Amino acid sequence: MAALNVEQLPWAEKSLHVPSLSELKTALSAGLNKNFAEVLVEIQDCPDLTAAPFYLASSGLSGSQTIVDVGGPPFLAPTVDRTKIYDLVNIARKVLPNAPTVYLCGAGAGPHPLISSNCEGIFNLKINEDGSFVNETHIARVTPGDESCATMKVPHDETKFALMANLYVSEGQKGKVIHVKCKKRLGEDNFITACRNAVYAAFGEKHVGMGGVFILKNGSAHQHVMRDFSSTPLNNDEDVNNWLKFYNMPGILIAVGTFVTDEMDLDLRLQHFHSFSKSNWGGHYHYDTTPETVEYEAYFNVGSRIIRIDQPVVTHKIGRD
Ligand code: ZN
Repeated sequence: MAALNVEQLPWAEKSLHVPSLSELKTALSAGLNKNFAEVLVEIQDCPDLTAAPFYLASSGLSGSQTIVDVGGPPFLAPTVDRTKIYDLVNIARKVLPNAPTVYLCGAGAGPHPLISSNCEGIFNLKINEDGSFVNETHIARVTPGDESCATMKVPHDETKFALMANLYVSEGQKGKVIHVKCKKRLGEDNFITACRNAVYAAFGEKHVGMGGVFILKNGSAHQHVMRDFSSTPLNNDEDVNNWLKFYNMPGILIAVGTFVTDEMDLDLRLQHFHSFSKSNWGGHYHYDTTPETVEYEAYFNVGSRIIRIDQPVVTHKIGRD
């Protein structure tokens, strides 16, 4: 099935407030210290994120940083719209038309035509200056039968996804980024909720969007993988949660995605991170299940605009957790 052409899809764009990295450092330190026993937030030159333990397709997260929200859960529930197939390269070119290189990472639904089944997408793709690309995107699925979690790197030429995605897009250049380390969770908030609340507490109604990568180590996480499309309508969160398959996944998990402090009248997903790993685990991050031992390490950067592509006309709040 061919992907929809982004040129023909609804498109909206708004500016985000861009705090300085030093303001963000102060905000994240203050907020995360309420939720974790040990917190380090610093501004640093981005390390080579292609190296272990991050395994990104690009070494950096800087240049024309943009938060992108495509489609949404209304294309999945109550019933799936199988025509909602998009292409990451097509979208990346439209988002950053003049950039020599583009890197994108994030969370969404994987390309169901690839495996004839619904699946999770963990997007991680760099487009080089000559048009070639580095494709480190993974998918995660529920294996039919024993319902184990299985992941795979997509074939090199597979750049499609389905239904929805929350993407952090940049030129993938080296530059200053926010480095976060947290140990031992004391509060109820998951790592990303704690980060988002920290940024919201500092900047309030000035809308801020961030994205990047975090790893979870020395612990495990409650994560879901979507089963194949439901044959019955998913009418509420209970239906969705019964249809999703939940796992306790051990670290090291490498999670990519975005968070924003407000929906900005664009029906945005406030936070969305999916993880992959080197041990066949992957899925949608909810929270860690090992607060005593858990460690997080993240590299984030801040977006200067939000782009909303193919915003569902009929919407609801089902399946947003
Ligand atoms: Zn998800």
